[in-house]
Amino acid sequence: MKDLVLLDSMKSISNQKIFTHSLLSWNKNSNQRQMPWKGIADPYKIWLSEIMLQQTRVEQGTAYYNRFIEKFPTVDKLALANDDEVFKMWEGLGYYSRCKNLMATAKIIAFDYKGIFPDNYNGILKLKGIGPYTAAAIASFAFKLPYAVVDGNVTRVISRFFAVEKSIDTNAGKKYFAELAQSLLYTEDPATYNQAIMDFGATVCKPRQPLCNICLLQNNCGAYAKDLTKVLPLKEKKLLKRNRYFYYIIVEQQGKIFVRKRTEKDIWQNLWEFILIEIDEKLPAEAFVKTKAFKDLFIGFNISIKTSVFYKQQLTHQTILGLFLYVTTDATYKNENFTALKKAEIKTLAFPRFITGFLEKQEELQILKG
Ligand code: SF4
Repeated sequence: MKDLVLLDSMKSISNQKIFTHSLLSWNKNSNQRQMPWKGIADPYKIWLSEIMLQQTRVEQGTAYYNRFIEKFPTVDKLALANDDEVFKMWEGLGYYSRCKNLMATAKIIAFDYKGIFPDNYNGILKLKGIGPYTAAAIASFAFKLPYAVVDGNVTRVISRFFAVEKSIDTNAGKKYFAELAQSLLYTEDPATYNQAIMDFGATVCKPRQPLCNICLLQNNCGAYAKDLTKVLPLKEKKLLKRNRYFYYIIVEQQGKIFVRKRTEKDIWQNLWEFILIEIDEKLPAEAFVKTKAFKDLFIGFNISIKTSVFYKQQLTHQTILGLFLYVTTDATYKNENFTALKKAEIKTLAFPRFITGFLEKQEELQILKG
């Protein structure tokens, strides 16, 4: 029995060596993935790219990264920037708490640390908005420290290769995959290894339709041998999604539009918006303008209304559905929670993605007959 356990653990160690070796070989000979921050050792640029790429596709994140680096080439420049200007540049990337943390951390590094990034894992991890994944990326890419990155790409690749039938989203599963990932790290060159496993997950062992037929790891891949590539990685929790119905009212008065900066502590905090009414069901514009919530906004005022078609935005946990009503009022209209700004000023503000989707489309609005 003892011999069998020993044999099993030897088999597993040899499989781990095969994995790491094959991955590095793939990286050297076949990895074509290009990204502007790849191979860079500047912790500021690595940090910026990693924060931008959270929940964002590389193609989209790259354009933002290039614009940011051009405008703010150093952490000091970012720390001195005007908050509204940085938010405007972030507009469209979503998950604005990332941007808020980015600015807070830039100020700490620039002013408290005299512009010098911490050069050890625990020091990096203490910074606002930086979790274990980003800390490992900065520690390994910038300072060549032996910390394995563990993100969705990494857990997918290793759960398939080692045919791990443990859920990746439970505490026990997360701990298991973090330890397995760390044990696989090529400590002589952690930067190359970490980049290789992420690139491999993004381009070969993809979430859907992995390229098993051309995969260098196929002969030793557990999921491939057991026909589990479509099943792994396992997830325990199903995402609960809910629908929300947003009706934005764009009130125009003598060439000015009513807007406000959101203060609620949600994903749109500090972004600007038009007057918003959220309701519990999807109503066509004709029915919505008869609701008390809408009518209360314009008691005693003459208005004319145009409407957009319905817009939709899919977020991780929620689907936003809604439309935009363009309301023209006479000169006396007031709304104490909102400020009337000229259209040229409106263009400099950062709005949530749902609104920019509408503004960019420049849709011809339909006049609403009352
Ligand atoms: S054989 Fe398929 S599942 Fe296994 S590592 Fe390669 S791409 Fe991923």
